[in-house]
Amino acid sequence: MRTVSGVVTHEVFNQAAPFSGVNLWQANRPLQDALALHAPGADTAALHALGEEAGSAEMQAHARLANTHTPVLHTHDRVGRRVDEVEFHPSYHALMTSALRHGLHGTPWAAGPGSHLQRAAAFMLFTELEPSVLCPVSMSYAVAPALRGNSALQAAWGPKLAATAYDARFMPMQGKTAVTMGMGMTEKQGGSDVRANTTRAEADGQDEWGHRYRLTGHKWFFSAPMCDAFLVLAQAPEGLSCFFLPRWLPSSDNPGTLNAIHVQRLKHKLGNHANASSEVEFHGAAAWRVGEPGRGVTQILAMGALTRLDCALGTAGLMRQALSIALYHTAQRSAFGKRLNEQPLMKNVLADLALESEAATALAMRLAAAVDRTEHGRDEHESGMRRLLTPVAKFWVCKRGSAFGQEAMECLGGNGYVEAAGEGVMARIYREMPLNSIWEGAGNIMALDLLRALRGADMAAALQRELAPSKGAHAALDRTAARVLHQIDHGDALEPQARRLARDVALVLQAALLHRTSPTAVFAAFCDSRLDEPSDVFGTLRAGHDLRAILQRAMPWSA
Ligand SMILES: Cc1cc2nc3c(=O)[nH]c(=O)nc-3n(C[C@H](O)[C@H](O)[C@H](O)COP(=O)(O)OP(=O)(O)OC[C@H]3O[C@@H](n4cnc5c(N)ncnc54)[C@H](O)[C@@H]3O)c2cc1C
Repeated sequence: MRTVSGVVTHEVFNQAAPFSGVNLWQANRPLQDALALHAPGADTAALHALGEEAGSAEMQAHARLANTHTPVLHTHDRVGRRVDEVEFHPSYHALMTSALRHGLHGTPWAAGPGSHLQRAAAFMLFTELEPSVLCPVSMSYAVAPALRGNSALQAAWGPKLAATAYDARFMPMQGKTAVTMGMGMTEKQGGSDVRANTTRAEADGQDEWGHRYRLTGHKWFFSAPMCDAFLVLAQAPEGLSCFFLPRWLPSSDNPGTLNAIHVQRLKHKLGNHANASSEVEFHGAAAWRVGEPGRGVTQILAMGALTRLDCALGTAGLMRQALSIALYHTAQRSAFGKRLNEQPLMKNVLADLALESEAATALAMRLAAAVDRTEHGRDEHESGMRRLLTPVAKFWVCKRGSAFGQEAMECLGGNGYVEAAGEGVMARIYREMPLNSIWEGAGNIMALDLLRALRGADMAAALQRELAPSKGAHAALDRTAARVLHQIDHGDALEPQARRLARDVALVLQAALLHRTSPTAVFAAFCDSRLDEPSDVFGTLRAGHDLRAILQRAMPWSA
């Protein structure tokens, strides 16, 4: 017992300090190595600065507050006029300010080679701070290139989508320093199958932004409704088409006229609490066509491919955050006479999680490299890898997220399950994990998309070339690669087996990437545990692996 200010209390001991004040870039060797593989000699000063900021106690406090004081919808003002405004805690805006300042939204589209790869690494680091605000940030990244389908809109909005001075004000775009954009596809009767959309688009003349329409209908999921504009799908006479839908009408004088987008309510979600996701109705809302009429699905798929990249990056970032917290905790907490991270079985669990986290990072960054190379030039192999990797990385990395989050949480024992007014970050990570697997194409849709990709260019040749540097490095990798290549080459993969194939393609690619970037201990343990003798739970690495080397790589800081 001890006395604090005259009050007798017991001493709290054997509890871990919060994981705070760590430079997340400096601590993340797998991410550094993944970037170095694809962009040797890249300038990492900005990532260093972001790593410092994202790991700081100040920004972590913003993340806690933004998730505790969740968004509030105001449909009408005091006297009954529609306002359709969502109010956020100031910490949400602090996080958005930081994300835009680091150029995580539309900025890479206005920059040179390497910009998408740098942004991908930064996106992962920011996810370790707070993933929910990255929803509008990611959508802004994904829609930016689609605006090219309407040159007038591109000229008017493009520069502000790349601008880094976040502007939270709810007002017409003309007076703002920067803008964000969202996407509206999903309706009540169908999300994966967007062809089921019933929202109608009726032609309404032409003006300086091109062909104007009136939209009538709804969207069942409409995240980040405070974005300045959205790309939405609606049925035009020619078929499903893509439309640009601003929150404010363009010619509006101050104080401006709101577009007829009625926010019905906010979703009560499992996680992702700092971000608002809404249900909306369009009551003759003004929208401008982007691209050819009847080609909406193709355009939306192009945007979806970019948000799928972010799903893989985001989950890899969340895994890294969960792993760091687990490593940090177990280095400080003792049980049965030893630090937890010195207990042989806990070492096995932590090392196994470290393998998964590193493999997820490697795969997501490989996809980012393919995006970067194909956006900044023509490269047939990279185009093939981009097409192949998008569904594979989204499927496998995101699918592994929830199991990973559960195991990392268990490393903290009961404290892992407790949120304690937002201080218990592990529970927040766990609630967030399933989201990336569901939205923008759930698991089955990704696996089926892989089958579609395989019907295109010669994917077996692209995969073979990708795996060539690791040939002969591990017997299980050679065996699995041969089986996968045979299946692809012979078109053996049937629909019910699509998930198996997506998993196997992911695993051989992850192994091949680890062979190029990781110490032998990591590569060997990954191949043994994922390809030779796969297990359903973490912590089942065979005897004889160098767990110490794996853990030292994963945790370079001292607790
Ligand atoms: C938090 C959150 C935010 C979101 N924000 C947005 C947003 O801003 N804009 C937006 O447009 N949408 C948004 N969504 C919607 C999301 O993209 C959809 O929920 C998702 O695409 C799935 O569509 P659905 O819900 O209609 O499910 P369904 O399409 O009904 O699918 C249900 C299940 O069936 C499976 N399935 C479907 N077809 C097949 C098939 N042929 N074979 C085998 N299995 C199949 C799917 O994989 C899924 O598991 C959001 C969702 C969430 C959870």
